[in-house]
Amino acid sequence: MQHEYQYFPITVPGKGAGGQTGTWRFVRPVVNLNKCIGCRACWMFCPEATIHVIDGKVEVDYDYCKGCGICANVCPVKAILMEGEDQ
Ligand code: SF4
Ligand code: SF4
Repeated sequence: MQHEYQYFPITVPGKGAGGQTGTWRFVRPVVNLNKCIGCRACWMFCPEATIHVIDGKVEVDYDYCKGCGICANVCPVKAILMEGEDQ
C-alpha cells in the first residue's frame, strides 16, 4: 500500500513575516550562553526564523523577534529566559 505524504513548512519562509517587532514586543528572549548546549531546538521552532546559531552560539535578531516565548519553552536546558523590555 502506498502512502501519500504531505509536507508542511516549519516556519514561514523568510525572516520576520510579522514585520519589524521592536516597537510592539514587550518581552524578549535572553540566552544564557553558559547553559546553552547548541542543540538548535530554538532555531528549529522559532516561527519568525530570527534565531541563528553561529559557531554553536545562539543569536537572536531582536529587530524581528516577536517575543512569543516558543524558543524558551522548547529549550531542553532552560537556557532562554523571557525578560521584559523595560528591564
Ligand atoms: S521569542 Fe523566540 S521563538 Fe519567538 S520569535 Fe522571538 S526568538 Fe523566535
Ligand atoms: S534550545 Fe536552548 S540549548 Fe538548544 S540551542 Fe537553543 S538556547 Fe541552546
